[in-house]
Amino acid sequence: MSSTKPAHASQTLFAVVDNCLQVGGISLTRLAQRVGRTPFYAYDRAQVTERVRQLRAHLPSGVELHYSIKANPMPALVQHLAGQVDGLDVASGGELKVALDTGVDPARISFAGPGKSDAELRQAVAAGVCVHAESEREIRAIARIGAELGIAPLLVLRINPDFELKGSGMRMGGGAKQFGIDAEEAPRLLKLAGALGLDVLGFHIFSGSQSLKAEAIVETQARTVDLAIELARASPSPVRMLNIGGGFGIPYFPGEARLDLAPIGAGLALQLARVREALPQAALSIELGRYLVGEAGIYVARVIDRKVSRGQVFLVTDGGLHHHLAASGNFGQVIRKNYPVAIGNRVEAHERETVSVVGPLCTPLDLLAERMELPRAEVGDLVVVFQSGAYGLSASPGGFLSHPDAVEVLV
Ligand SMILES: *Cc1c(COP(=O)(O)O)cnc(C)c1O
Repeated sequence: MSSTKPAHASQTLFAVVDNCLQVGGISLTRLAQRVGRTPFYAYDRAQVTERVRQLRAHLPSGVELHYSIKANPMPALVQHLAGQVDGLDVASGGELKVALDTGVDPARISFAGPGKSDAELRQAVAAGVCVHAESEREIRAIARIGAELGIAPLLVLRINPDFELKGSGMRMGGGAKQFGIDAEEAPRLLKLAGALGLDVLGFHIFSGSQSLKAEAIVETQARTVDLAIELARASPSPVRMLNIGGGFGIPYFPGEARLDLAPIGAGLALQLARVREALPQAALSIELGRYLVGEAGIYVARVIDRKVSRGQVFLVTDGGLHHHLAASGNFGQVIRKNYPVAIGNRVEAHERETVSVVGPLCTPLDLLAERMELPRAEVGDLVVVFQSGAYGLSASPGGFLSHPDAVEVLV
């Protein structure tokens, strides 16, 4: 028989009272009653607030903090964050609506992403949000739409740098990419934008995601500022906006540890000083998605059946990959690893056993935990998947197998 998988770093962010996990001061069993059905996602608003506070404590005060809505677009959560961050970054017309509904100043919303349709660009220009052009076609469309609507568009060029964030879970810069304008093409397109009567406010340079290596993030930020200073020489007008990306990761798997913010804060202070010297009109921002919300969320599913197959125990739950593709290992993982999982209403127990937690879908991919040691669970118990506040429900194939949707609550 196969062995138990290695253990995760302990989940200290959620309190445990009377052996039951607490979310926002409410016991998980009570919260499940309040929600009325499983499966559900629960996001802890105090943890999100605390995360922003920790970041602000380390970041130099001149660096603006943006939230990337893509990580979790739940409207109540975006509203909660809207009052705490300096900007909201969206990547579709749908996310744009969520951001505008919060009431933040449209100039503090930026819209990036490849393949923006003319309809989306028109919405964005009409709303007065900052549009990040990712191609020559987009620059031309933005100029045309601005003229049609009688609005001077707020325009930033998204740049595909010639380097990438090392140790990044998902590479989104460097080499040939569908994202942004290749750095070497930028001088030509800056000239084109000028000829079309557009004022380019600055640059957005994002080079990767999910890095747990502070030194790699510090180094990438320095190279990003180098590139921005170089590009500014080709710009007909001064740089007023500079978004240098983010890429701060969170620990998902055994052996991973939380990112050390102290060196990143020190590195950013150096970069801020360089920006103030070379690009004195530029507001410097970073954009974070998962780091702000990922650890504050859990996914909760109920045990429907407990089966033993040829000596292996399977906990069959009502939740699975249709709500949480990432925890099943099918959202960008090369080798499947378990997310941290607990039995939320029975956090500790003398009797423990090695189990696989699966969902109700008729596919072997529907796996929430593979051969993990957990307290012995029974039908009716609540399985909790941690680190589920980002790239959860909205990043999952909800229609697959036609099961009910998951509920989302902000507690
Ligand atoms: C997805 C994305 C982000 C957010 O990445 P996280 O890993 O969630 O922090 C930021 N910027 C851009 C351009 C993105 O596409």
